[in-house]
Amino acid sequence: MLEIKNIRKSFDGTEVLGGVDIHVDQGDVVAILGPSGSGKTTLLRCINFLETADAGMLVFDGERFEFDSISKKEIAGLRKKTAFVFQNYNLFRNKTALQNVTEGLVVARKMPKQQAVEIGKQALDKVGLSDRYDYYPNQLSGGQQQRVAIARALATNPEIIYFDEPTSALDPELTGEVLAVMRQLADEGMTMLVVTHEMSFARTVSNKVVFMENGAVIESGDSRTFFENPQEARTKEFLRTIN
Ligand code: ADP
Repeated sequence: MLEIKNIRKSFDGTEVLGGVDIHVDQGDVVAILGPSGSGKTTLLRCINFLETADAGMLVFDGERFEFDSISKKEIAGLRKKTAFVFQNYNLFRNKTALQNVTEGLVVARKMPKQQAVEIGKQALDKVGLSDRYDYYPNQLSGGQQQRVAIARALATNPEIIYFDEPTSALDPELTGEVLAVMRQLADEGMTMLVVTHEMSFARTVSNKVVFMENGAVIESGDSRTFFENPQEARTKEFLRTIN
């Protein structure tokens, strides 16, 4: 479904991504792991065109795009098929949970309001917030806010959801409810690419792992092999330090 080839990105002459390849099949849950500063977030932001990669290619549903020459129209087309969940939720503070979910449907996708509200309620129900439609972000816990953000992603019916460290801003007791929602989506076959520090999530929910360091993929493959029989010395060391 999604193939990234040889993606490169430098900031002020410093290379942050040095030619990374990623392969995602439909229904995959791919965890991107690696120490802080290894380029994981930059990779995700480049894939969703929040940053402009210097070079490389993206293939989505068989269509090829070059990062350095993709048009705004093509980006808009790809964004309709994808959704992004941010570390800090990125909710509108002055809108309710339901309004946060419906806003994009009504404004960007020109959906009739009533239909958007119906879809928005379904999405909030799915993440366990059927009793919070009319709450504002500051009346919700961090875990609930992130679940609103996941509902907003789901409401657009994406082919893939990108998650950038979705639980890293949360107190430990709130991460579980967000991971449970993500696990449920995985079980339902949602394709997800997830930058995460949650090793239990990577181990038990994702079927593939990409381990990055210094802007390069050190090791990638199925999760089980990665955790039980890592091949690279660097991977073994990483797994030792986090265990
Ligand atoms: P990770 O997500 O693995 O922690 P990041 O992608 O956030 O890594 O960062 C990789 C490197 O790129 C870091 O050294 C970071 O300082 C640098 N970096 C990220 N964004 C920018 C930016 N907008 N300008 C300059 N340097 C950046």
